[in-house]
Amino acid sequence: MDKSKIIQAPKGTFDILPTEQKYWEKVRRVVALVGAQYGFERIDTPIFEGTDLFERSVGQETDIVEKQMYTFKTKGKDSLTLRPEGTASVVRSYIENGLNSWPQPVRLYYVGPMFRYEQPQSERYRQFHQFGFELIGDSHPIYDAWLINIALVALRELGLHKTVVAINSIGDAKCRPVYRKALVAYYKNKVGQLCEDCKRRYKTNPLRLLDCKEHHCSEVAAKAPNLVDHLCEECRNHFKSVLEYLDEQKISYMLNPHLVRGLDYYTKTVFQLYAEESLEILSGNSNSHKNPLELGGGGRYDMLAQQLGGKNTPALGFAMGIERIISLMRKNNIKVSELKKPEVFLVQLGELGRKKSLTLFEKLREGGIDVVESFGRDNIKSQLRAADKIKVRYAVIVGQKEALEEAAIIREMTSGTQETIPFDKIVNELKKRLRQAPPVSS
Ligand code: AMP
Repeated sequence: MDKSKIIQAPKGTFDILPTEQKYWEKVRRVVALVGAQYGFERIDTPIFEGTDLFERSVGQETDIVEKQMYTFKTKGKDSLTLRPEGTASVVRSYIENGLNSWPQPVRLYYVGPMFRYEQPQSERYRQFHQFGFELIGDSHPIYDAWLINIALVALRELGLHKTVVAINSIGDAKCRPVYRKALVAYYKNKVGQLCEDCKRRYKTNPLRLLDCKEHHCSEVAAKAPNLVDHLCEECRNHFKSVLEYLDEQKISYMLNPHLVRGLDYYTKTVFQLYAEESLEILSGNSNSHKNPLELGGGGRYDMLAQQLGGKNTPALGFAMGIERIISLMRKNNIKVSELKKPEVFLVQLGELGRKKSLTLFEKLREGGIDVVESFGRDNIKSQLRAADKIKVRYAVIVGQKEALEEAAIIREMTSGTQETIPFDKIVNELKKRLRQAPPVSS
């Protein structure tokens, strides 16, 4: 083992450094706020689950289950998988904890890391984060349109006003098999020209032929029969109502007959949200072979609860990719306030000053003042330079003399004016000064 080799984070993962945290905190805050405003409560499920949960929900013939799961055997020989997505766990929890006895529909949201073994590329990671909203226990199409609105509201609250909604219906257990037959018939003498993945999909999951990103495959898919033309009456009416409710909310959308999404559990409505910059690619007006920047997606999954051993429970939800949202926020220069705005820098001199600065730090903190320490430094100049750098309004200085008198100097950083104040008055004095507007520098 080469011990001098620098160990790096695993491929497709990254650290969220303190400088980035304000974006993450903003997303978490907005998700909690929007959740509360629309009656959704937070749920946290384990980061790993039994592998069969995803095999039965996401689907054995999907890319996620076939190629992308981090699956491992425990010492007890159980097969566990790091969750590749959030919905299956939420529905598992709904069934396991008897949430069907709560007033329906149950509205839940989650935020957390997901894991997929993908080829890392721009905006595609092996550990990434999603927030998701799930509404379980109601089949009315108004909720499909309302949930899309909630996703858009969350994006707007994060400063992302320009997004594109693509929508489709993929039918249900009644009409999808009919469409599947028509699709297989269309592809029958074209399979040879398709990519290796599509050759496999043709046999195992023909619906996925529609959203292959390979250039030639997507050309063939473009002429495939349309799903919406094969919907049964119930699914057609449902879809029509969803579009009407979207119109009512003045939400514009693109109908995308090839939108099927990568997970098997969807029924009826499916949708995806993109950054507006992807509009050209989505409408086929771009020569670029780039994929559109998908921010999130979701849909109805009326059969999932039953697939997982629960009662027949209509439900729907969406998940958004947090890395992509944050990268778009940065690209659009969206201002996010700093997490901590230090107000006071604590400077100490000499051993007695250093000792006293420990209790003074606690006094200031308990008094609600945001204080930064510099316990390890000796030199007053370097401490004042550090205070200047982080732009605090005041430095509080405890030297040998002040420490003996149980007092400290308050120094106004811009003017350099100083005043000695006893320890027991210092919190109130600082609070009084901090309430006043800072002097305008000339
Ligand atoms: P999905 O669960 O596949 O529908 O994905 C929902 C959203 O999660 C996508 O629109 C992306 O924004 C995000 N996402 C999915 N997979 C990844 C990944 N590997 N890396 C980064 N973001 C991802």
